[in-house]
Amino acid sequence: MSHPHEPYALDVLNPATEEVVATVPGATAADVDRAVAVAARAQRTWAAAAPADRARLLRRFAAAVDDHLGELARLEVREAGHTIGNARWEAGNVRDLLDYAAGGAERLSGRQIPVPGGLDVTLLEPLGVIGVIAPWNFPMPIAAWGTAPALAAGNAVILKPAETTPLTALRLAELALEAGLPEGLFQVLPGRGDVAGDALVRHHGIAKIVFTGSTRVGKQIMSLCAERVKRVTLELGGKSPNVVFADADLDAAVAAAPMSFLDNSGQDCCARTRILVERSVHDRFLELLAPAIESVVVGDPADEKTQMGPLISKTQLERVRSYVPEDTPALRGSAPEGPGFWFPPTVLTGLAPDAPCAVDEVFGPVAVVLPFDDEEDAIRLANATEYGLSGSIWTRDVGRAIRVSRAVAAGNLSVNSHASVRYWTPFGGYKQSGLGRELGPDALTAFTETKNVFISTEA
Ligand code: NAD
Repeated sequence: MSHPHEPYALDVLNPATEEVVATVPGATAADVDRAVAVAARAQRTWAAAAPADRARLLRRFAAAVDDHLGELARLEVREAGHTIGNARWEAGNVRDLLDYAAGGAERLSGRQIPVPGGLDVTLLEPLGVIGVIAPWNFPMPIAAWGTAPALAAGNAVILKPAETTPLTALRLAELALEAGLPEGLFQVLPGRGDVAGDALVRHHGIAKIVFTGSTRVGKQIMSLCAERVKRVTLELGGKSPNVVFADADLDAAVAAAPMSFLDNSGQDCCARTRILVERSVHDRFLELLAPAIESVVVGDPADEKTQMGPLISKTQLERVRSYVPEDTPALRGSAPEGPGFWFPPTVLTGLAPDAPCAVDEVFGPVAVVLPFDDEEDAIRLANATEYGLSGSIWTRDVGRAIRVSRAVAAGNLSVNSHASVRYWTPFGGYKQSGLGRELGPDALTAFTETKNVFISTEA
């Protein structure tokens, strides 16, 4: 760990070319102190504003994001190597979240419960200043998942983006100011996790931490938060199953399988990286899967036709390589040669269910295929992981779809689909995939404290 007060800078690389696209100053512990003091003042005024006024400003912020959708998307392509199609969706997701949360500000109404001898009201009060620590895999949406509902509920936000991807977050902070959000209410502090991130987690002026990233760092943050009983939401890793039964529409299951783990180059906590296939159709599934993997278009993320871009960094490339040495037999797609952090789509077969690649979150374009015998065996294998974020079930049998959905311990399941993220439905993990839920109709309440007040009518 470098000294928390030493000045430093972050180089932002284009992962498709390895060129430095920007250098930004990194936040120190003193910068965090200053930001918290400013945010605390801004939060008091914001919390006192009428909900309709907060909603109006958040809708203006959403409109400003919409006006700059193309610019934000291109920035995401440059700093994160995301395909341009995905990057546009990501910027649109930020806009939609702000709009949806704005409506929440107007509907956060608490409740009145009948009691004898008086009037009893339950109030939902903002927590104060929220620290959002975001990862590099979906820099814009994940930052907004915490930020939009926190602001709507009357809090201030200090966002620390990942070291490798600060640019879209910095641009969002500028757009917030242009849209009229009060100075200091939403601040972005790019910086190292062990410096700026750590200072946010330890700061007494931060009421809650929203963290998305590795399970290892999530556990550290949770134990630091415990010292002050600081509120915490954790969105951590995943090793999600894609369960294909013999009675499924096999062509549809095969067609959907590649992008269910290759989207965002596999750097997706919901990636379906454990493909579990009923033994009677296992060989047929692999026969059909091989050409589907080979035909995935990997290359320049700015090209509209590209389906998969590079990995985020050299560190991530080395991590993925360490799981799949070059001579490992596998179904493989293609990847460009030369500069950039490229790894081809890869499917491993014949592995033991407890092989590292079958249980660890690789966070790259790598999946394993494992056979199962029957429904009970499928459920056992699906649950044989410390994670529990997402999963898919492919079957034509409705009863089975419901039984297996109930039996798999994961927060987000899809039947005959791989879709698991919508801003209007709850999202989060079982087991070591996380704590708390984001998105959906209850997102704002995660940024409030519940206060019950009894007013006697007898006095
Ligand atoms: P990470 O957990 O180290 O980083 C995530 C965020 O936490 C970054 O903003 C980082 O700066 C910050 N951070 C790091 N150390 C911190 C600390 N001590 N205190 C406060 N904040 C800190 O993740 P990584 O090293 O970038 O990626 C490693 C692995 O994590 C990946 O290979 C993947 O398996 C997993 N990951 C998962 C997700 C997800 O969405 N679930 C996202 C990113 C990474």
